[in-house]
Amino acid sequence: RNFKRQMECRIDIEGLNAPFLAIYESLIPAEEEKAKQKQLLTLLEKLVSKEWPKARLYLYGSCANSFDFSKSDIDVCLTIEEADIKKSEILLKLADILQSDNLQNVQALTRARVPIVKLKDPVTGISCDICINNVLAVVNTKLLRDYAQIDVRLRQLAFIVKHWAKSRGVNETYQGTLSSYAYVLMCIHFLQQRKPAILPCLQGMETTYSVTVEDVDCAFFDRVEKLRDFGSHNKESIAQLVWAFFNYWAYCHDYTDAVISVRTGNIISKRLKDWTRRIGNDRHLICIEDPFETSHDLGRVVDKHSIKVLREEFERAADILQYDPNPCVALFEPY
Ligand code: ATP
Ligand code: MG
Repeated sequence: RNFKRQMECRIDIEGLNAPFLAIYESLIPAEEEKAKQKQLLTLLEKLVSKEWPKARLYLYGSCANSFDFSKSDIDVCLTIEEADIKKSEILLKLADILQSDNLQNVQALTRARVPIVKLKDPVTGISCDICINNVLAVVNTKLLRDYAQIDVRLRQLAFIVKHWAKSRGVNETYQGTLSSYAYVLMCIHFLQQRKPAILPCLQGMETTYSVTVEDVDCAFFDRVEKLRDFGSHNKESIAQLVWAFFNYWAYCHDYTDAVISVRTGNIISKRLKDWTRRIGNDRHLICIEDPFETSHDLGRVVDKHSIKVLREEFERAADILQYDPNPCVALFEPY
């Protein structure tokens, strides 16, 4: 009977393609929003270069990695070589400059884990966080953006997963659940593992892009326009992939020993990374290796309570997709 049910699910799951694609389309930001983001960036560049002519501004995070929903805030990184000035002083100075140009709610958070200046632009209505010299985030943003250009199913899957995570309250690192960045890496890894693969492993290919940031070598293949057909042997639909993604995290992932690794395009063992026990606050209950800072587990925020919440949510999602009469509503039901 179980087998029959699974077969039934596979036949009728195709009915979810249209609603999933409609949700995806409705979340994509409009061209004019992207134009407003550029407009704000240009204003910030003008203000910053008056004080620090050599400084540069980069967009990073979802506004630049193509996984942003409409009405998102933007993340900006200021790169500046002022070896003798402390980060907190730069942030305070920056806040000063921005405040005197009529930007609203300017706040320097100098003690945060990632120190930033926050602001809101009254003209475009966009909120923005500016951090200093966080170049690795700029590079991992490029990696995600490059992956997104290879097969549209990555962006579609990640939108559904992010939308689910935000609706269900499991996209909150301060509550022990996962960041959007972690969810996108889970989607990339999942598509690298499909048979046939839908995504390649860019860090395992010939190097066409390379930078060294804080002693970390970041090298990968970035001529992604050459990979547009990569996933074409795999015909899986978005509905099948969403179902398989949740099914994987609900019932197939080996939480005891597996680390997912976009860097290698494979699963690696916790033992290999010495991630088998709790060290300090890192419990390694769900292991997602950062593609560049390989000692960094993006699941380290997850604790013994939130791992239960996460796994129950994965199971709930998988079961809804299998059995619920109205999965597109139930999946995104506010928690
Ligand atoms: P959202 O649309 O939810 O704001 P986002 O892509 O901006 O999504 P965040 O998780 O807020 O996601 O992260 C912003 C960026 O900061 C990421 O794209 C990544 O470049 C970087 N980042 C976030 N968390 C980490 C981390 N733990 N390690 C390294 N880089 C990170
Ligand atoms: Mg963001």
